[in-house]
Amino acid sequence: MPFKKHPLLLPKLQRALLQAAVKRRTPTRVGALVLSACMALPMNALQAQTNFSRLPNLGDGAEVPLGVERRLGESIAREIYRDPDYIDDAVLADYVQSLWQVLLASARQRGELTPELDQQFAWDVSLIRDRSINAFALPGGYLGVHLGLISAVSSPDELASVLAHELSHVTQRHIARMMAQQGRQGPMVVGAMILGMLAASRTANASSMSAANAVMVGGQAAAMQSQLNFSRDMEREADRVGYGVMTDAGYEPQGFVSMFEKLQQAARLNDNGAFPYLRSHPMTTERIADAQARQQLLPPKKQLPLSVLHAMMAARAQVLATPGVDVLRSLSTQADASAIRQAPLARLAGVLYGAVMADMKQRDFTKAQQRMSQLQALKLDAPSQRVVRLLQAELHLNAGAAPLAVDVLAPYKNTALTNKDRATLLSLARSRVATEKPEQIKLAAQEMSQWLTQQPRDASAWLLLSAAYEREGDGLRAIRAQAEARAMELDYAAAVDRFKAAQDLARQLARDNKLDRAGHIEAAIVDARLRELEALRREQALQR
Ligand SMILES: [Zn+2]
Repeated sequence: MPFKKHPLLLPKLQRALLQAAVKRRTPTRVGALVLSACMALPMNALQAQTNFSRLPNLGDGAEVPLGVERRLGESIAREIYRDPDYIDDAVLADYVQSLWQVLLASARQRGELTPELDQQFAWDVSLIRDRSINAFALPGGYLGVHLGLISAVSSPDELASVLAHELSHVTQRHIARMMAQQGRQGPMVVGAMILGMLAASRTANASSMSAANAVMVGGQAAAMQSQLNFSRDMEREADRVGYGVMTDAGYEPQGFVSMFEKLQQAARLNDNGAFPYLRSHPMTTERIADAQARQQLLPPKKQLPLSVLHAMMAARAQVLATPGVDVLRSLSTQADASAIRQAPLARLAGVLYGAVMADMKQRDFTKAQQRMSQLQALKLDAPSQRVVRLLQAELHLNAGAAPLAVDVLAPYKNTALTNKDRATLLSLARSRVATEKPEQIKLAAQEMSQWLTQQPRDASAWLLLSAAYEREGDGLRAIRAQAEARAMELDYAAAVDRFKAAQDLARQLARDNKLDRAGHIEAAIVDARLRELEALRREQALQR
């Protein structure tokens, strides 16, 4: 668990803004915002191949400056980072990044991601601990993926098809156009409405969602028809562009097709909130017929090769999305079935990985280690071996054997720094701190400092650094690192609060003659950062 936060998705002010917005707004406009929380629609990509060129030009969204959109995105992202179901799982985050960076490179190459957009937007993907199947694009290049989506897709190509679609909503400035259409409403009202739509798509945390749901449901239902009319062209454009981005990036077009089949099947089987996308965009018989007709235009269907890495990441996402005890038990017993030994390697690896995760979650460490040994005995490629190694370290750490976790990961420290292997570095630092041994804690602080010179926006790394300093008894640095973590989560008020605490401590230490030369330098950094963050906080307050 990287950081635990306040259990509020919508702070009071934004909830009030949202209610005011809904009162003033015609349902149509509220509904239009649904598109910001949509998911890929593969059928549309197929349509795009045949008749997209006939669609009207949607304009370029130039009426909303990039900076305004980015700041709106930041205000929404800040709420997401505070949500208890925001999860910075480094293993899954690295996996999603490995797809995301390839898609970004492809969009750059194709010219959809312009240098200006590239520089001014965040291009940041957050993971949400929610079992429902959803992904969404927010203003300013912030995106979100529910863990349920990762566990439900069966290939990286399917996941890439969803990410590429969402990416294209941002590069095509769809959100800017939507903001422009909101006209007289300030960006914060738009932000509050988007948060409301996100809340309505969530299943895992009903208590924090109920208020937003109550506000949104009426307008949403009334708006359905015009919302679909309004969003269809943008959806098709996002599909057309996303399809190009994804296939140019080297992913299989079949991923788009199978993703559609998945949605179609889900629509047949249930409509109970597991698929927020389907709730707002029902699978009509016409759409299914269209998709089947257009599928004929693709080359003969081929089975995508199974990815061992993906199978394991899907299993991880499933367990981290906090399923019930019955699901954990069944994940565990699946590994005992004799038939699984004859299954393809990817399936076997996925089942064993899921079983280790499920056993670990139920604190049956002996059983987890037995499955772990079976997983380690498989012949896997290097990227898959890496996640197995990380799982072994995680198991040792959870079982209270932190020194063993360090032994597993320490040999890979240098390659991890070279390859920007975040999960290995963070897991190693966490394990070192957990050993409670001074020499290990010192190494953790060194390694996290080194990492942060490369990746200064890594909030989880700042928190680990803070934990290491705290155990070293270096209160000043510990508080400053906490302040930096808050700043990187865009919570400038909390950051200012921590920097002030650091300043107070520095003054106290100076009075007691306990501030050495390095301490004076640290105190000067704290002063400078406090001024910067106070300016940012004022800016943030002005936007409300
Ligand atoms: Zn969409």
